[in-house]
Amino acid sequence: MYVLDSSAFINDYHTDEGIATIPLVEEELEGEAAYRFDALEGSGMHLHIPEDNTVERIERAARETGDLAELSETDVRLVAAAFELDSPLVTDDYAMQNVAEKLDVRVEVIARDGISEQREWLFQCAGCGREFEENHDRCPVCGSSLSRKNPA
Ligand SMILES: [Zn+2]
Repeated sequence: MYVLDSSAFINDYHTDEGIATIPLVEEELEGEAAYRFDALEGSGMHLHIPEDNTVERIERAARETGDLAELSETDVRLVAAAFELDSPLVTDDYAMQNVAEKLDVRVEVIARDGISEQREWLFQCAGCGREFEENHDRCPVCGSSLSRKNPA
C-alpha cells in the first residue's frame, strides 16, 4: 500500500499497489484532481485517520529536524498515516521527505512522465575560457575553438 499526498493526485500518480490517503487531502484538491480522488475512493482507496499520539510523535520529529514550520496539518497527518500503515509515502515535498526519513518511513518521489530534465548547454572557449550559451565556430573574443560543456 502507498500513502498519497495531495500532489500525487494533482500529478496523476499511478501505481499498481493499493493506495491510502487521509480525508484532509480531499479539501486541497480541485477539478481533475478532486475527480481522481473520488474515483479512487470509489474503487477502494483506504482513507486513514491517524491516532493523535502518532500525530504528536510526527510533530516532535519535525521539530527536531527543523521542518515543523514548513508542514501543514495535512502534511503532518500524511506522514503519521504512512508511519501507522508502515507504507511508503508518495510526495515531492522536501520537508515531508526529511521527517519521513527521520522516522524510517520510505518515500516514493512522484514520477513526472514526459517531463525530462531540461539541460542547458554551455560552450567554453579552449583559449580564454569564456563561456557562451550559443555555439560559435570560433571564440568571438580570441578566435580559439569552443567545446561543449555540461553545466550540471
Ligand atoms: Zn576565447
